[in-house]
Amino acid sequence: MDITVKATAKLNLALDILGKRDDGYHELETVMAMVDLADYLDFSLRLDGNIKLESSSNAVPEDGRNLIVKAGLLLQRRFQVTKGATIKLDKKIPISAGMAGGSSDAAATLHGLNQLWELNLSLDELAEIGAEIGSDVSFCVYGGVAMCNGRGEKITPLPSLPPCWVVLAKPAISVSTRDVFSHLEVNDIQHQHSEKMLAAIASGDYYQMVEALGNDLEDYSLEKYAEISYLKKQFEAFGADAVLMSGTGPTVFAIVKTEKKAKRLYNSVSGFCKNVHMVRFLKPQFE
Ligand code: ATP
Repeated sequence: MDITVKATAKLNLALDILGKRDDGYHELETVMAMVDLADYLDFSLRLDGNIKLESSSNAVPEDGRNLIVKAGLLLQRRFQVTKGATIKLDKKIPISAGMAGGSSDAAATLHGLNQLWELNLSLDELAEIGAEIGSDVSFCVYGGVAMCNGRGEKITPLPSLPPCWVVLAKPAISVSTRDVFSHLEVNDIQHQHSEKMLAAIASGDYYQMVEALGNDLEDYSLEKYAEISYLKKQFEAFGADAVLMSGTGPTVFAIVKTEKKAKRLYNSVSGFCKNVHMVRFLKPQFE
């Protein structure tokens, strides 16, 4: 029997860089939330032990470089699994966008194969395994809304966000994560976005939430990439209550309170950007 798992995209509502660690990673604090834009993964059992990935998009590798295959191989090794799987990926999340598409696919693979191979692993165990694949995978295992610390793998679940609409757009450029991080001047950065966001979410106040949006990685990208700053200015001009770059970018998202305003933003930005989506934040599963 086939198993289908939805892999949703995330947005960073707040991102603070707290410092550089001895292992080369940055210590960060970020509030992430899932939106209803998703890849779909279909799992079917193979008895020959192979993990075979078939992707709808030729922009992602189908071999061991894909995080889906990495997740499968890791589970096989860790639990001496002799069964395999054919995994069909229907790719909808923009690639290299700052929306954790690959990490979410990896998390969905952990969920799917846990079921397919009857491993009976708990959510916490899946999240721990996920952290070995990538910094965002643990959050993607839980989904919902959360504060993430460390490299991003220490998760504190948060309640639902105030009701609102999101329009996100990915400009047709690619941004190097390494380049963004290497230009960070950690000492100059005041890290307070996450704290403000936590208070806003606790209050449940929409305006406090939009006020609290912030990303330490944004200034560099706005200066370096004209496409990102243009998109942000357009969203603001078309009436967004707040606009922010997600993660390392280049995706930019705008928040508004009503569906009508979201449609207006969507139509306006679609006039010059091809990759635009109107979405909502997902409710945490365990609320
Ligand atoms: P993040 O927000 O976690 O930084 P991202 O949205 O910027 O991630 P992804 O789309 O997850 O970026 O992937 C970026 C790179 O990872 C691409 O170079 C891609 O080839 C590779 N990759 C490996 N597996 C996948 C996958 N399942 N989906 C998308 N990209 C993948």
